[in-house]
Amino acid sequence: MTTIQLPQLQRDVDLRAFNTFGFSARAERFLRVESLESLQQAVALARGQGWPLLVLGGGSNLVLRERLPGLVVQIALKGRSVHIDGETVLATVAAGENWHETVAWSLGQGYYGLENLALIPGTVGAAPMQNIGAYGVELEERFHSLKALDTETGAIRHFTREACAFGYRDSLFKSAQPGRYIILEVTFALSRAALPVLRYRALVDELEQHGIASPTPLDVFEAVCRIRRSKLPDPSEVGNAGSFFKNPVVAADRYRALHEAFPDIVAYPAGDAYKLAAGWLIDRCGWKGRSLGPVGVYRNQALVLVNGGGGTASDLLALADAVRASVLERFGVELEMEPRIYPA
Ligand SMILES: Cc1cc2nc3c(=O)[nH]c(=O)nc-3n(C[C@H](O)[C@H](O)[C@H](O)COP(=O)(O)OP(=O)(O)OC[C@H]3O[C@@H](n4cnc5c(N)ncnc54)[C@H](O)[C@@H]3O)c2cc1C
Repeated sequence: MTTIQLPQLQRDVDLRAFNTFGFSARAERFLRVESLESLQQAVALARGQGWPLLVLGGGSNLVLRERLPGLVVQIALKGRSVHIDGETVLATVAAGENWHETVAWSLGQGYYGLENLALIPGTVGAAPMQNIGAYGVELEERFHSLKALDTETGAIRHFTREACAFGYRDSLFKSAQPGRYIILEVTFALSRAALPVLRYRALVDELEQHGIASPTPLDVFEAVCRIRRSKLPDPSEVGNAGSFFKNPVVAADRYRALHEAFPDIVAYPAGDAYKLAAGWLIDRCGWKGRSLGPVGVYRNQALVLVNGGGGTASDLLALADAVRASVLERFGVELEMEPRIYPA
């Protein structure tokens, strides 16, 4: 039997700088992987030793507890390639590439379609995990396929869009088979023709305020960046993971009853159902701007929980529980957390 050697494996590493909440979490072992070979070796080693394995991208959608046993692998696979077929561009991007830089790169090349998703933190490989979405576009609309390493069999598998089972902030990789697949690269179906998506009211308003009636993809990109910078806390200044709760989806009759009781409730049609604005529900429970010890609810956006400094995952989860209990009591609606907690 060959012994697996991973000379870059580090022990007892503080992951404070590797998660956007800025929680101090000690990984028993940590490895940054820049090649498929070292990733395969790391996975084989973890399986052989029975170590829990956590795959880390930019750490912007998870909550880390104080101790992480086993092995944490940070995905740093890099590279981009392009296949052009008429107006369609298939852009394949390695999992460790930065998401926002990839959006900016695609725009610079004249490949359109990702501009509404500008400035979302994190990596390309994590984007399919929860089918990232913002300002009227979800990843699945621009997704072609992906390649992933199956940690159970060691095989490399290709996934079409259908196979990924994308849903609202959800996919096969997040829900049905959590932790089984490590995404290696993602192929996007982009366009050389500009087709701005202006479904989102705040985006249309922002463009209007700048006197832009027929926006280019670059106009959309810049408008999205301006809105996001004005609304969301920068994780380098205030620890956070963006929206902490999903917007709950309720049946139409349930929505009508809520609307009767709370006429100013904010909601959007979602097929036959309605998506309630979780931020509105939390705000109406009086949580906006409130703190519980070192953690709190962001003063400008009630959907964002923040670490004011020195907080821990336990502090944050206690706050999340209190917020959820308030919303359940007042509106009878269950809030579901968006980020995953490690260890679960
Ligand atoms: C300020 C702010 C704003 C945000 N705005 C949005 C938004 O508008 N829309 C939105 O959808 N999200 C948003 N997010 C959440 C987050 O940025 C996205 O979910 C992002 O895709 C996470 O990428 P990451 O690399 O940081 O993933 P991580 O946090 O490192 O990981 C997230 C999950 O994906 C898994 N994972 C990571 N990489 C891989 C891989 N290569 N293969 C398999 N599994 C992997 C991890 O194990 C974990 O379960 C925001 C976050 C912040 C801090």
